[in-house]
Amino acid sequence: MDTQAAERLAYKVMSEHGLIDEGWTFKWSRAVRIFGLCQYNTKVIKLSRPLTEVNDEAQVMDTLLHETAHALAGPEAGHGPLWKETARAVGASPEATARGVVTATKYYAVCGCGAKFSRNRLPSDMRFCGKCYRAGLKREARLMWVERSTMREAGYSARANRYADALTQLAG
Ligand SMILES: [Zn+2]
Ligand SMILES: [Zn+2]
Repeated sequence: MDTQAAERLAYKVMSEHGLIDEGWTFKWSRAVRIFGLCQYNTKVIKLSRPLTEVNDEAQVMDTLLHETAHALAGPEAGHGPLWKETARAVGASPEATARGVVTATKYYAVCGCGAKFSRNRLPSDMRFCGKCYRAGLKREARLMWVERSTMREAGYSARANRYADALTQLAG
């Protein structure tokens, strides 16, 4: 989901449930394993930016409602009966862990057409955006992988990187 839209959604959900009036705010986190977080001492609800980017609006919404239920039920409630009741009341799935969440991978690629791809290892050979490749845009369809943690280009494939390294050594 687009992160600006997600931030607007967060403030909308939090204000609908009275959290903004009670001094709660929203912040982004860089966590790649924890989608949402409710910090009672600082009255902050956090969403993971990398996980928001790779998940759809329904997952982001459920996470926001899950954390909203924590904020309303209080820190003692945990994921117990009071939290479950609150989660149902605000429309969150009353389960401690969400299903179907896409995890943030080490690498991602975005095609010019907007299609997104992600994986934990660089592919051994070059990969293409299927839609653009089939449309005859073979050059444009090549996927350049970006390392999520550094936001730097990591190459087209592991093989292409080895080849480039070998050339550099020959030249050196
Ligand atoms: Zn929880
Ligand atoms: Zn494409």
